[in-house]
Amino acid sequence: MPLFQNAAYAASVATLDDPLPGSEGEIAFAGRSNAGKSSAINTLASRRRLAFVSKSPGRTQMINFFALGEMRFLVDLPGYGYASVPGTVRSKWEKVLGGYLQGRRELRGMALVMDIRHPMTDLDQRMIDFMRPTGIPIHVLLTKADKLARVEALSQLQSLRGQLASMSPNFSAQLFSSLKRSGIEEAESVFATWLSLPPHAENAIGSAPQSDHPMSASPRKPPNPSGRISRRTDGIWKPKNKKPRTKGE
Ligand code: GDP
Repeated sequence: MPLFQNAAYAASVATLDDPLPGSEGEIAFAGRSNAGKSSAINTLASRRRLAFVSKSPGRTQMINFFALGEMRFLVDLPGYGYASVPGTVRSKWEKVLGGYLQGRRELRGMALVMDIRHPMTDLDQRMIDFMRPTGIPIHVLLTKADKLARVEALSQLQSLRGQLASMSPNFSAQLFSSLKRSGIEEAESVFATWLSLPPHAENAIGSAPQSDHPMSASPRKPPNPSGRISRRTDGIWKPKNKKPRTKGE
């Protein structure tokens, strides 16, 4: 059973004072709005609309948890880069997000989604700079790889890998395409290692409820809602005020 196959919506939190799910390991998905993050999550979970829970009204500025079973979670963070968010809301939100990323002990790694045609924007660089001191590994999914010829895609990958290697040995990257469903196994293998789970073990991830409609899965009360952020930090990630790219690329 692939790693994310039984992923089910679990909870959303707007502030770190809300109880976070009792977790033994989680992976945060981040990326610029429209980079293809929701599509990548849906592809990994083989579900058409799983990650669109995070785009439903009221949840776009929340940290959204999806249970994988075995007390492991996929955590969908809001896409960054939207200019339309008012300044006060954004700065409150940055505090929440920064606190989560730098304080959550159960965070094992970050999947950072970048559009292969626009890799490593200023905002991506800021996110990486923010994460670097934590020592948490980052794996870049260079998605929409189908948009480029193979040679070009490989050249983008090579160049990005060079950049990442100069920043940290914990950073890695791969090609991904939700359209072609390519790169899934490579990503699963990285994420399974982070979560200390076998990528394709039937019994490893079996306890999350199956639902083709994530909104129908009732928010699950954490068995041990003790996962509050224990270490607060003033290091807040501040994205630039940039316009998103047009949808439907
Ligand atoms: P998000 O804002 O980062 O969650 O981005 P979405 O997953 O909503 O994707 C943004 C747009 O890119 C949508 O129109 C998707 O259909 C498209 N898209 C996402 N992934 C791919 C991909 O791998 N290949 C192609 N060709 N388009 C993609």
